[in-house]
Amino acid sequence: MTAPTAAVRDRVLDLAATELPAYLYDLTALREHAAAVRAALPERVELYYAAKANPEAEILAALAPYVDGYEVSSGGELAHVSKAVPGSPLAFGGPGKTPAEIVSALELGVQRFHVESLHELRMLADLVTRTAPGSAVPGVLLRCNLPLDAASLEGSSLAMGGRPTPFGLDPDDADTAVRLLTDGTYPRLRLLGVHAHLASGLDAPEQLAVAESVVTWAAGLAARHRVTFSEVNVGGGMSVDYADPDARFDWTAYGAGLARLADAHPGLTLRIEPGRALTAYCGWYATEVLDVKRSRGEEFAVVRGGTHHLRTPATKGHDQPCTVLPVAAWPHPWPRPGAEGERITLTGQLCTPKDLLARGVPAAGLRAGDRVAFGVAGAYAWNISHHDFLMHPRPGFHFLEADRARTGA
Ligand SMILES: *Cc1c(COP(=O)(O)O)cnc(C)c1O
Repeated sequence: MTAPTAAVRDRVLDLAATELPAYLYDLTALREHAAAVRAALPERVELYYAAKANPEAEILAALAPYVDGYEVSSGGELAHVSKAVPGSPLAFGGPGKTPAEIVSALELGVQRFHVESLHELRMLADLVTRTAPGSAVPGVLLRCNLPLDAASLEGSSLAMGGRPTPFGLDPDDADTAVRLLTDGTYPRLRLLGVHAHLASGLDAPEQLAVAESVVTWAAGLAARHRVTFSEVNVGGGMSVDYADPDARFDWTAYGAGLARLADAHPGLTLRIEPGRALTAYCGWYATEVLDVKRSRGEEFAVVRGGTHHLRTPATKGHDQPCTVLPVAAWPHPWPRPGAEGERITLTGQLCTPKDLLARGVPAAGLRAGDRVAFGVAGAYAWNISHHDFLMHPRPGFHFLEADRARTGA
């Protein structure tokens, strides 16, 4: 899979060197992937896309036919997503919501708030009374930091639950929140159920164990208060394996497990909100080799661009999967440097040893002027990068569609 799609490869080779680096998003591949994910899920399970993974308007729009809504985690995402996919259901989550952000969400008619603390619940309850009296009563899902069997989080790269975190309500606070939402204290809020996003990087069996724990725990919370929950959102965090991009999250097994869980809880809407696992594979960061050099027995290829555009490998400490696309032409009068060994380290243009994109890349014969396409760059890539560090130019952005790909072939 580290080989780019034909559409991406053709475009990378068509671009002028000065048009690199560039992000290329294969929207056709994205649609196919999203359709397969949707098809693997039971009808009763809702799929929201967590916009923070990649909020490009074209990506949000391409996903629209396959998702039931979008999870936004800031006022910025709220404004952007509501414009990019108008009319789509939004769930507003994330810690530290400001009063102004909440008011914007209410004005936009957002129907689902993922409440992160008792303070936030009180603030929301107050602000909603100041909106037009006739407007819809928004729904609340309590984000809960529930006790989890440690084994189910094993292997997760970003655990956000079952330990002290700034996210969500501890069980005691969840009880308090349910009481306040059901004893008439906050008549202008509707308690829908529980939200949990406890870990990232889990495979399908681990995700299912988490989903079961969340649903069971939510059922206990509802029973304690003699209420019924209509919704449980079990979060995102489906794994993407950067070391082995072909090892995809098993959506079929996950969907089958969720179907069993849904059958055991009739009347409950289950929802998931993946980010990375939906969009990571459709994105590519393409560039050219500027220099090939040796240092104390090792070879380095310096590429145009770097981790200020693609910060993912630096943040996660992995080697970004990549493919070398050899270019025959060398337009310059000076000699063309090339690799002598079998393996090379790809670095960028930043003056820091942290600007490492990939180590140990098999690249016999790699030369300056060759192109490199880094894959699995469709999520937490451009949008988490420190673009202005060193003031290099920004990359280009290309959104590839099937018909345009055909013209390019
Ligand atoms: C980031 C986030 C997600 C998406 O996580 P992925 O690992 O990209 O699937 C979903 N829900 C919440 C609350 C998040 O913060």
